[in-house]
Amino acid sequence: MSAFIRPDLQAFAAYSAHAITDAQTQPARVDHLDTNESSYDLPAPLKAKLAGEYQQAIRANRYPDGGHEELRAAIAEYASQAIAATNLRVTANQVTVGNGSDELIRSLLIATCVGRSGSILVAEPTFSMYKVLAQTLGVDVVSVRRDAATFEVDVAAAETAIANAATPVRMVFMVSPNSPTGNSLTRAELDWLRNLPTDILVVVDEAYFEFSQVSTVAEALTRPNWLVTRTFSKAFRLAAHRVGYAIASSEIIAILEKVRLPYNLPSFSQAAALIALRHAPDLLAAIKEVQTERDRLCQAFQALPNLQTWPSAANFLYSRPRVQSLDSVFHQLYEQGTQIRQTGGGLRITIGTPTENDRTLAHVRQVLKP
Ligand SMILES: *Cc1c(COP(=O)(O)O)cnc(C)c1O
Repeated sequence: MSAFIRPDLQAFAAYSAHAITDAQTQPARVDHLDTNESSYDLPAPLKAKLAGEYQQAIRANRYPDGGHEELRAAIAEYASQAIAATNLRVTANQVTVGNGSDELIRSLLIATCVGRSGSILVAEPTFSMYKVLAQTLGVDVVSVRRDAATFEVDVAAAETAIANAATPVRMVFMVSPNSPTGNSLTRAELDWLRNLPTDILVVVDEAYFEFSQVSTVAEALTRPNWLVTRTFSKAFRLAAHRVGYAIASSEIIAILEKVRLPYNLPSFSQAAALIALRHAPDLLAAIKEVQTERDRLCQAFQALPNLQTWPSAANFLYSRPRVQSLDSVFHQLYEQGTQIRQTGGGLRITIGTPTENDRTLAHVRQVLKP
C-alpha cells in the first residue's frame, strides 16, 4: 500500500454492516433484529408531514441551519422532562447535535485526545464504535473487563488501568443500559464515575434511555466533566436520518460546536427530529409494548436449559448458548430467518414486533432444543 497512508490504518479492518455471506441456505424472509432499531417505521401521517416540510419549507439549494437553533431548543425541552423532579433544566446551549451519536463520539475524541498523547477507557463487552473511532484517529484504547455474571465494571481493575495507562486516560465511555449486555449503571459504578478526577471526561451513552427511563442528565448539568449522549436512532424510529445529541455544560458544548463540521446535519434530518419531538408521546407509546415483549421473551429464553439470558433494561436481550458454539447458533438462527448480532462472546437479539418476536422464540426454541 502507498507510503502516504498511515500504516496503522492499513492493518485496520473496516467496520462492516454485518452482512452474512457464508449462510448455507438463504431464508425466504429475514427479521432484522441485529441493530436495535425500532421495528416500527414513522407513522404515515408523520411521514406526510415531513414530506410537506420538504415541499414547502426546505429549500434544497440552501445549506441547512448550521446552528441547529430550533432543534437544540426542542431537545433541551424534551431532555428536561426526565429531570422534572429536580430544579434543573436543560438549556439549548447545553445541547449539541451530531450526524448520529457516532459523530459526537468522534468529535469528543478530537476534542480530548487527537494531537497529543491520551487514551480512552472502555469496559468490554460494550458498544464497539468507541474503539473503532479511536483507532481510526490514532487514539489509544485502554480496555477493562466486566464481571462475568453481572457485567458490572470491575472498578478496581479500571482504577489500576487508569493509574498504569501508557498515555493519560482523558475520557471514560460508559453505556447505560450497556450494549450488548442490557445492564444499567449501578450505584457503585456511578459512585466510581463521580469520584474520577475532573481531568477525565465521563461520557454516558444513553442511546437506550427511553427504554430504561434512567438518566444521568442531571450529572451532566452539574458536573464539569460529565457528558451524556443520546440518539434518535432507537426509540424515536429515525435511524435513517442520523440524528444524535450530547448534553453537557455550556463550556464543553461550545468546544464540541467548534469541532463539528459546519453543516453536519441535513435540513431534512433536522425537520424529521423536530417532527418526532413534537409527536414524542405518540412515538414513545410503543415503548411499553417493547418492554412487555422484552420481558416475555426474556422469561421464555430463561426457561431454556441450553441458553443463558440476562435481564435487560433496553430493547434487546443478551444470551449465551451453554452447549453449542455461538457461531453455530447464530448461523442456524439466520438460516431460519432471524438475523441477530453476534458480539462480545454472546448473542444480542433486538426486540421486534410481537409477530417477529413469536418467530424469534420459535427459532430459538428449535435451534436450542435439548
Ligand atoms: C445504537 C447506538 C447508538 C446510536 O448511534 P447513532 O450514530 O446515533 O445511530 C449509540 N450508542 C449506542 C451504545 C448504541 O447502541
